[in-house]
Amino acid sequence: MLQNIGEKLEIEIPVLNAPGIKGMWIKGRLPGKTLIVTAGVHGCEYIGIQAVRELSEEIKPDELNGSVIFIPLINENGFYEGAKQIVPEDKKNLNRCFPGSTKGSVTSRMAKALEMYLYDKADFLVDLHGGDVNESMTPLVFFPVGAGENVELETRKVIEKLSVEYCIPSKADKGLYSYAAKCGIPALLIERGGGGRWSVDEVNSCKQNICEIMDVLSIKKCKKLIKGPAEVAHVSYEEAVEKGFWYCLQEVGGNVEKGELLGRLTDSSGEIIREYKAEFDGVILYLTHALGVKKEEPLIAYGKL
Ligand SMILES: [Zn+2]
Repeated sequence: MLQNIGEKLEIEIPVLNAPGIKGMWIKGRLPGKTLIVTAGVHGCEYIGIQAVRELSEEIKPDELNGSVIFIPLINENGFYEGAKQIVPEDKKNLNRCFPGSTKGSVTSRMAKALEMYLYDKADFLVDLHGGDVNESMTPLVFFPVGAGENVELETRKVIEKLSVEYCIPSKADKGLYSYAAKCGIPALLIERGGGGRWSVDEVNSCKQNICEIMDVLSIKKCKKLIKGPAEVAHVSYEEAVEKGFWYCLQEVGGNVEKGELLGRLTDSSGEIIREYKAEFDGVILYLTHALGVKKEEPLIAYGKL
C-alpha cells in the first residue's frame, strides 16, 4: 500500500456484534518488517497498556524501517470495571480463547477478530501482560517451544537482546501470542508489574523492551542494549487445591531452597489444608499476595536456574 507509507493511522479492528478494538498503525517511510504490540488482554495489567499508549504517541513514521501496529487496550471493559483476568460481558479469559470463533460469545469473537486482522500482517508479535491485581511478579518473558524450529529460532534471536530478568519456554497455545506462534508467527509474551499498580519506571522499562525488539527486527535503532534474560527451563506452578486463606511466605525475585516452606493454605477456621514446600532450589517468579483464593487459582511459581 504505497500511498500509505510514512503515515500514522488510527485503526479499529471490527468485532462482530461488539465495539471495535482501537489501535495505531505507524507506517515507516522505508520498507521493513511489521511488529505487532498488544496490551490489555487482561484489563488490570497496567504497565503494558500505558507503555503502548505512550509509544503510539511518541514514535514518528520517519523513524521506522517497516511498521508497528500498537493495540494498547484490547479488553476495554475489563480495564474500566477493574475485572481480574476476564472480559466482563461473558466472564471469559481472552488469553484462553484462541482460536476464536464468530459463533462464540464476545470473548471468542474478539479472539477471532484479532487473529483475522493482525496475524497476516505480523512478522513478529509481542503481547504485554503483568501480574494481576492479586499477584506480584518479577519481570519475565514466555516464549513458544513446540511451535516449530523456525518460530523458536526467530523468537530466541529477540529474547537474547531483551532486558528482562528471566525467560521461560512455554507450550501454551490458546493465547494471543501462543496461538500466533502455532500459526507460524514468531511471538512472545512479556510480564512486567502487578498488584493493580503501575509506575513510570516500570512503564519506561517496558518501553525499553519494545525498542529492543524493534532494534533486533531492524525497524528502529535502540540506544541502550543490555544482556538478555536467564532461561528458566524448569518451573513449578503451585495451585490452590481448595478455596481458602493463603499465607504466602516468600517475596518475588527471592531465592528458595529445596524443602523450604513457600506458604500455607488454610480453611476459614484456620485448619491447614496444605503446606506448600519447594521441590528444588530456585527463584520465586511470581506469587499471589491476595489473602483469599479460589480453587485452582495460581499460588506461587518458582523456577530452577
Ligand atoms: Zn495477563
